[in-house]
Amino acid sequence: MGEWVENSWVWNLDWRRRLYEWEMEEVRTMQIIIDQNKPKRELHQGVLWKNKEVTSYPTTDIYATLNETLAPSIPKSIMSVVWQKFIPPRAQLTVWMAFKERLKTADFLVEKGVISVQNAGCPFCRSELETNSHILFTCRFAWSTWMEMLKWWNISAPLHMSFSNFSCQWLGLINDRKCKDIWALSLGCVIWSLWYERNQIKFDSKSANFHNFITSLKLRIGFWTKELMGYSGCAPNIIFNADSFLLRA
Ligand SMILES: [Zn+2]
Repeated sequence: MGEWVENSWVWNLDWRRRLYEWEMEEVRTMQIIIDQNKPKRELHQGVLWKNKEVTSYPTTDIYATLNETLAPSIPKSIMSVVWQKFIPPRAQLTVWMAFKERLKTADFLVEKGVISVQNAGCPFCRSELETNSHILFTCRFAWSTWMEMLKWWNISAPLHMSFSNFSCQWLGLINDRKCKDIWALSLGCVIWSLWYERNQIKFDSKSANFHNFITSLKLRIGFWTKELMGYSGCAPNIIFNADSFLLRA
Protein backbone atom coordinates (compact mmCIF):
# COMPACT_ATOMS: atom_id res chain seq x y z
CA MET A 1 0.00 0.00 0.00
CA GLY A 2 2.79 2.43 0.87
CA GLU A 3 5.91 3.20 2.92
CA TRP A 4 7.84 6.02 4.57
CA VAL A 5 10.83 7.24 2.56
CA GLU A 6 12.81 9.87 4.46
CA ASN A 7 9.80 11.14 6.37
CA SER A 8 7.69 11.27 3.28
CA TRP A 9 4.92 8.79 2.49
CA VAL A 10 5.11 7.01 -0.88
CA TRP A 11 2.12 5.07 -2.16
CA ASN A 12 3.01 1.63 -3.59
CA LEU A 13 -0.07 0.15 -5.15
CA ASP A 14 -0.10 -3.53 -6.05
CA TRP A 15 -2.64 -4.96 -8.47
CA ARG A 16 -3.98 -8.48 -8.61
CA ARG A 17 -3.67 -8.61 -12.39
CA ARG A 18 -1.88 -6.76 -15.17
CA LEU A 19 -3.74 -3.57 -16.02
CA TYR A 20 -4.95 -2.64 -19.49
CA GLU A 21 -3.64 0.56 -21.03
CA TRP A 22 -6.98 2.35 -20.57
CA GLU A 23 -6.99 1.33 -16.91
CA MET A 24 -3.51 2.85 -16.50
CA GLU A 25 -4.98 6.21 -17.37
CA GLU A 26 -7.53 5.82 -14.56
CA VAL A 27 -4.75 4.79 -12.18
CA ARG A 28 -2.77 7.91 -13.08
CA THR A 29 -5.82 10.04 -12.29
CA MET A 30 -6.27 8.27 -8.97
CA GLN A 31 -2.56 8.65 -8.19
CA ILE A 32 -2.84 12.42 -8.57
CA ILE A 33 -5.76 12.43 -6.13
CA ILE A 34 -4.12 10.25 -3.47
CA ASP A 35 -0.79 12.09 -3.78
CA GLN A 36 -2.62 15.14 -2.47
CA ASN A 37 -3.66 13.22 0.64
CA LYS A 38 -0.58 11.61 2.10
CA PRO A 39 -0.22 10.65 5.76
CA LYS A 40 1.96 13.04 7.78
CA ARG A 41 4.23 11.67 10.50
CA GLU A 42 3.76 14.52 12.93
CA LEU A 43 -0.03 14.37 12.82
CA HIS A 44 -2.45 11.97 14.43
CA GLN A 45 -3.96 9.82 11.67
CA GLY A 46 -7.71 9.22 11.69
CA VAL A 47 -10.50 8.45 9.30
CA LEU A 48 -12.56 11.31 7.94
CA TRP A 49 -15.34 11.18 5.46
CA LYS A 50 -16.20 14.53 3.92
CA ASN A 51 -14.82 16.27 7.01
CA LYS A 52 -16.97 14.12 9.24
CA GLU A 53 -15.34 11.96 11.93
CA VAL A 54 -16.47 8.33 11.57
CA THR A 55 -16.00 5.27 13.74
CA SER A 56 -16.91 2.68 11.12
CA TYR A 57 -16.79 2.41 7.34
CA PRO A 58 -19.48 4.86 6.10
CA THR A 59 -21.21 2.55 3.63
CA THR A 60 -24.33 4.68 3.31
CA ASP A 61 -22.34 7.84 2.62
CA ILE A 62 -20.19 6.11 0.02
CA TYR A 63 -23.25 4.64 -1.63
CA ALA A 64 -24.87 8.10 -1.78
CA THR A 65 -21.68 9.69 -3.11
CA LEU A 66 -21.29 7.11 -5.85
CA ASN A 67 -24.89 7.68 -6.88
CA GLU A 68 -24.30 11.40 -6.86
CA THR A 69 -21.17 11.40 -9.00
CA LEU A 70 -21.78 8.67 -11.54
CA ALA A 71 -24.37 9.58 -14.13
CA PRO A 72 -26.96 8.48 -14.95
CA SER A 73 -28.62 8.23 -11.55
CA ILE A 74 -30.38 4.98 -10.76
CA PRO A 75 -33.83 4.80 -9.18
CA LYS A 76 -33.95 3.24 -5.69
CA SER A 77 -36.06 0.32 -6.88
CA ILE A 78 -33.30 -0.65 -9.31
CA MET A 79 -30.55 -0.24 -6.74
CA SER A 80 -32.37 -2.62 -4.42
CA VAL A 81 -32.33 -5.21 -7.19
CA VAL A 82 -28.56 -4.92 -7.40
CA TRP A 83 -27.61 -4.77 -3.73
CA GLN A 84 -30.26 -6.81 -1.97
CA LYS A 85 -30.98 -10.51 -2.35
CA PHE A 86 -31.61 -10.63 -6.07
CA ILE A 87 -28.10 -10.90 -7.50
CA PRO A 88 -25.26 -13.18 -6.34
CA PRO A 89 -22.28 -11.15 -5.05
CA ARG A 90 -20.09 -12.40 -7.93
CA ALA A 91 -22.46 -10.73 -10.43
CA GLN A 92 -23.39 -7.58 -8.52
CA LEU A 93 -20.65 -5.33 -9.84
CA THR A 94 -21.37 -6.21 -13.47
CA VAL A 95 -25.09 -5.53 -13.07
CA TRP A 96 -24.46 -2.30 -11.20
CA MET A 97 -22.05 -1.13 -13.93
CA ALA A 98 -24.66 -2.05 -16.54
CA PHE A 99 -27.30 0.10 -14.86
CA LYS A 100 -24.75 2.90 -14.66
CA GLU A 101 -23.96 2.39 -18.37
CA ARG A 102 -20.32 1.92 -17.37
CA LEU A 103 -19.57 -1.49 -18.83
CA LYS A 104 -16.40 -1.32 -20.91
CA THR A 105 -18.04 -1.87 -24.26
CA ALA A 106 -16.30 -1.32 -27.59
CA ASP A 107 -17.47 2.30 -27.94
CA PHE A 108 -15.52 3.11 -24.76
CA LEU A 109 -12.38 1.44 -26.12
CA VAL A 110 -12.75 3.35 -29.40
CA GLU A 111 -13.00 6.59 -27.45
CA LYS A 112 -9.82 5.68 -25.54
CA GLY A 113 -8.04 4.87 -28.81
CA VAL A 114 -7.51 1.21 -27.82
CA ILE A 115 -9.36 -0.27 -30.82
CA SER A 116 -10.54 1.09 -34.15
CA VAL A 117 -14.20 1.60 -34.93
CA GLN A 118 -13.93 -1.20 -37.52
CA ASN A 119 -13.33 -3.63 -34.65
CA ALA A 120 -16.05 -2.23 -32.42
CA GLY A 121 -19.02 -4.17 -33.76
CA CYS A 122 -21.61 -5.88 -31.60
CA PRO A 123 -20.68 -9.58 -31.22
CA PHE A 124 -24.34 -10.62 -31.36
CA CYS A 125 -25.62 -8.93 -34.52
CA ARG A 126 -22.26 -7.88 -36.04
CA SER A 127 -23.91 -4.90 -37.67
CA GLU A 128 -24.01 -2.12 -35.05
CA LEU A 129 -21.50 -0.37 -32.79
CA GLU A 130 -21.29 -2.11 -29.43
CA THR A 131 -22.52 0.25 -26.70
CA ASN A 132 -24.00 -0.45 -23.25
CA SER A 133 -27.58 0.16 -24.33
CA HIS A 134 -27.16 -1.72 -27.61
CA ILE A 135 -25.67 -4.88 -26.11
CA LEU A 136 -28.22 -5.08 -23.29
CA PHE A 137 -31.31 -3.62 -24.85
CA THR A 138 -31.62 -2.47 -28.46
CA CYS A 139 -29.67 -5.23 -30.21
CA ARG A 140 -32.12 -7.71 -31.74
CA PHE A 141 -30.44 -10.52 -29.74
CA ALA A 142 -30.97 -8.64 -26.45
CA TRP A 143 -34.46 -7.42 -27.34
CA SER A 144 -35.54 -10.94 -28.34
CA THR A 145 -34.24 -12.15 -24.99
CA TRP A 146 -36.43 -9.69 -23.08
CA MET A 147 -39.41 -10.67 -25.26
CA GLU A 148 -38.71 -14.34 -24.60
CA MET A 149 -38.78 -13.65 -20.86
CA LEU A 150 -42.19 -11.98 -21.15
CA LYS A 151 -43.48 -14.91 -23.18
CA TRP A 152 -42.11 -17.37 -20.61
CA TRP A 153 -44.06 -15.65 -17.84
CA ASN A 154 -47.09 -15.13 -20.06
CA ILE A 155 -46.95 -11.35 -19.74
CA SER A 156 -47.73 -8.89 -22.49
CA ALA A 157 -46.99 -5.20 -22.13
CA PRO A 158 -45.81 -2.32 -24.33
CA LEU A 159 -42.32 -1.55 -23.05
CA HIS A 160 -40.39 1.69 -22.69
CA MET A 161 -37.64 2.27 -25.18
CA SER A 162 -35.10 3.68 -22.72
CA PHE A 163 -33.19 1.23 -20.56
CA SER A 164 -33.73 3.01 -17.24
CA ASN A 165 -37.49 3.42 -17.74
CA PHE A 166 -37.72 -0.07 -19.14
CA SER A 167 -36.09 -1.53 -16.00
CA CYS A 168 -38.45 0.34 -13.66
CA GLN A 169 -41.44 -0.70 -15.72
CA TRP A 170 -40.19 -4.30 -15.74
CA LEU A 171 -40.28 -4.46 -11.95
CA GLY A 172 -43.88 -3.26 -11.92
CA LEU A 173 -45.20 -5.93 -14.27
CA ILE A 174 -45.70 -8.48 -11.48
CA ASN A 175 -47.21 -7.70 -8.09
CA ASP A 176 -47.37 -11.03 -6.26
CA ARG A 177 -44.71 -10.86 -3.51
CA LYS A 178 -42.93 -14.18 -4.11
CA CYS A 179 -43.11 -13.92 -7.90
CA LYS A 180 -42.05 -10.28 -7.72
CA ASP A 181 -38.78 -11.29 -6.07
CA ILE A 182 -38.01 -13.86 -8.76
CA TRP A 183 -39.05 -11.36 -11.43
CA ALA A 184 -36.58 -8.81 -10.02
CA LEU A 185 -33.91 -11.48 -9.92
CA SER A 186 -34.66 -12.26 -13.57
CA LEU A 187 -33.97 -8.66 -14.54
CA GLY A 188 -30.44 -8.87 -13.10
CA CYS A 189 -29.93 -12.37 -14.44
CA VAL A 190 -30.77 -11.36 -18.01
CA ILE A 191 -28.33 -8.44 -17.82
CA TRP A 192 -25.54 -10.53 -16.35
CA SER A 193 -26.17 -13.39 -18.80
CA LEU A 194 -26.08 -11.09 -21.84
CA TRP A 195 -22.77 -9.64 -20.67
CA TYR A 196 -21.35 -13.11 -19.93
CA GLU A 197 -22.48 -14.39 -23.34
CA ARG A 198 -20.97 -11.36 -25.03
CA ASN A 199 -17.61 -12.05 -23.30
CA GLN A 200 -17.67 -15.68 -24.31
CA ILE A 201 -18.28 -14.76 -27.95
CA LYS A 202 -15.63 -12.05 -27.90
CA PHE A 203 -12.89 -13.76 -25.91
CA ASP A 204 -13.59 -17.51 -26.17
CA SER A 205 -14.65 -17.57 -29.85
CA LYS A 206 -18.09 -18.95 -28.96
CA SER A 207 -20.81 -18.57 -31.62
CA ALA A 208 -24.00 -16.70 -30.79
CA ASN A 209 -26.85 -19.20 -30.51
CA PHE A 210 -30.10 -17.69 -29.32
CA HIS A 211 -31.87 -20.97 -28.50
CA ASN A 212 -28.98 -22.26 -26.37
CA PHE A 213 -28.62 -18.89 -24.69
CA ILE A 214 -32.29 -18.81 -23.64
CA THR A 215 -32.10 -22.35 -22.28
CA SER A 216 -29.03 -21.57 -20.17
CA LEU A 217 -30.57 -18.26 -19.04
CA LYS A 218 -33.70 -20.02 -17.73
CA LEU A 219 -31.56 -22.57 -15.93
CA ARG A 220 -29.48 -19.80 -14.40
CA ILE A 221 -32.62 -18.03 -13.15
CA GLY A 222 -33.62 -21.31 -11.51
CA PHE A 223 -30.22 -21.75 -9.88
CA TRP A 224 -30.07 -18.15 -8.66
CA THR A 225 -33.57 -18.49 -7.23
CA LYS A 226 -32.51 -21.58 -5.33
CA GLU A 227 -29.20 -20.05 -4.23
CA LEU A 228 -30.51 -16.67 -3.13
CA MET A 229 -34.07 -17.33 -2.03
CA GLY A 230 -33.94 -20.95 -1.04
CA TYR A 231 -36.94 -21.93 -3.16
CA SER A 232 -35.42 -25.33 -3.74
CA GLY A 233 -38.66 -26.97 -4.72
CA CYS A 234 -39.82 -24.40 -7.19
CA ALA A 235 -36.76 -23.91 -9.36
CA PRO A 236 -37.65 -26.73 -11.79
CA ASN A 237 -41.18 -25.34 -12.00
CA ILE A 238 -39.82 -21.98 -12.92
CA ILE A 239 -37.56 -23.55 -15.48
CA PHE A 240 -40.15 -25.69 -17.14
CA ASN A 241 -43.44 -24.01 -16.38
CA ALA A 242 -43.51 -20.40 -15.27
CA ASP A 243 -47.28 -20.24 -15.72
CA SER A 244 -47.99 -22.96 -13.18
CA PHE A 245 -45.57 -21.35 -10.72
CA LEU A 246 -47.47 -18.08 -11.01
CA LEU A 247 -50.74 -19.88 -10.33
CA ARG A 248 -49.37 -21.72 -7.31
CA ALA A 249 -47.52 -18.81 -5.74
ZN1 LIG B 1 -26.14 -6.08 -31.84
